[in-house]
Amino acid sequence: MKVTEHIEKAKGKTLFSFELIPPVKGKSIQELYDNIDPLMEFKPPFIDVTTSREEYVYIDKGGLLEKKVTRMRPGTVGICSSIQHKYHVDTVPHLLCGGFTKEETEYVLVDCHYLGIDNVMALRGDSMKEERYFTPTDGGHCYAKELVEQIRNLSHGQYLHETINSDDNADFCIGVAGYPEKHLEAPSLQTDLKRLKEKVDAGADYVVTQMFFDNQKYFEFVEAAKNLGINVPIIPGIKPVAVKRHLQLLPQVFRIDIPQDLIDAVEACSTNKEVRQVGIEWAIQQSKELKAAGVPVLHYYSMGKSDNIKAIAKEVF
Ligand SMILES: Cc1cc2nc3c(=O)[nH]c(=O)nc-3n(C[C@H](O)[C@H](O)[C@H](O)COP(=O)(O)OP(=O)(O)OC[C@H]3O[C@@H](n4cnc5c(N)ncnc54)[C@H](O)[C@@H]3O)c2cc1C
Repeated sequence: MKVTEHIEKAKGKTLFSFELIPPVKGKSIQELYDNIDPLMEFKPPFIDVTTSREEYVYIDKGGLLEKKVTRMRPGTVGICSSIQHKYHVDTVPHLLCGGFTKEETEYVLVDCHYLGIDNVMALRGDSMKEERYFTPTDGGHCYAKELVEQIRNLSHGQYLHETINSDDNADFCIGVAGYPEKHLEAPSLQTDLKRLKEKVDAGADYVVTQMFFDNQKYFEFVEAAKNLGINVPIIPGIKPVAVKRHLQLLPQVFRIDIPQDLIDAVEACSTNKEVRQVGIEWAIQQSKELKAAGVPVLHYYSMGKSDNIKAIAKEVF
């Protein structure tokens, strides 16, 4: 079932969902199941699985280091399919422009269709760790909007090189990313919102936001998006702070602000266990206010750990 159908079926009730990261190459999928199991009591209608960009590794060839490109966390679509079979829950694999040609993307989309995956999240992806700016992959897309167009074309039987008269079109529900505090490369929030509108006009069905710690930023973002004619559901993304280092790391990586009250509370902690509790309590307050405001879904960034998400969900759902 599509994410948008789940939202319609809920008739205004706020749903619970979360995002998972595939295990590092060589690690068991059991690790993921162990984190999904405790969250199933909150009945997530869908679970997202991220895709990681390829990265450079250096192989020691008898004293000489050879540079190779690899994916450290492969298996997104396979994991989605396993989750659907094991838990009977819909999944949303994340698709990236970066690191994939359009041909490879078409291949993945056909896989998703045959596996009964009805939703995909269309993202550009970040630059590779070694690169300062995002460089499009040869034969790939430059922006998420182009990826949305490719996915939407499939529902009209339009593949990359031919149009097929098909009675089995892959009609995906497409999610895209939105940034209440603007994307780090965008010159202004208003320009970034116009880009978001382009993604929606190209066929995106819903938006999931970047994490934020001040609900006011989300409310203003939703209002500004509506004023621009963006009428699809905008799902808030929530991440509980978990370690002291997040105070530096999250603003640096995601260009988001952390409210002074949260900074003060984290700084007053003497252990990361205390920080984790502060993060849980902040996220509970955020979630309760968002739920009271009638958001369609509360979507949690689990970062591969479920204990804090469970503690939050217990208080909110
Ligand atoms: C909910 C969510 C899930 C995510 N999941 C993943 C994941 O699984 N894996 C991963 O690697 N990353 C993920 N990301 C991070 C995302 O890939 C990065 O934030 C990336 O830098 C931008 O992706 P986008 O899809 O928003 O890009 P786009 O929408 O393409 O926008 C990228 C930038 O280009 C600008 N822009 C857009 N169109 C144009 C144009 N025509 N001309 C000029 N500028 C333009 C935008 O304003 C923006 O600044 C996720 C982010 C979110 C919010």
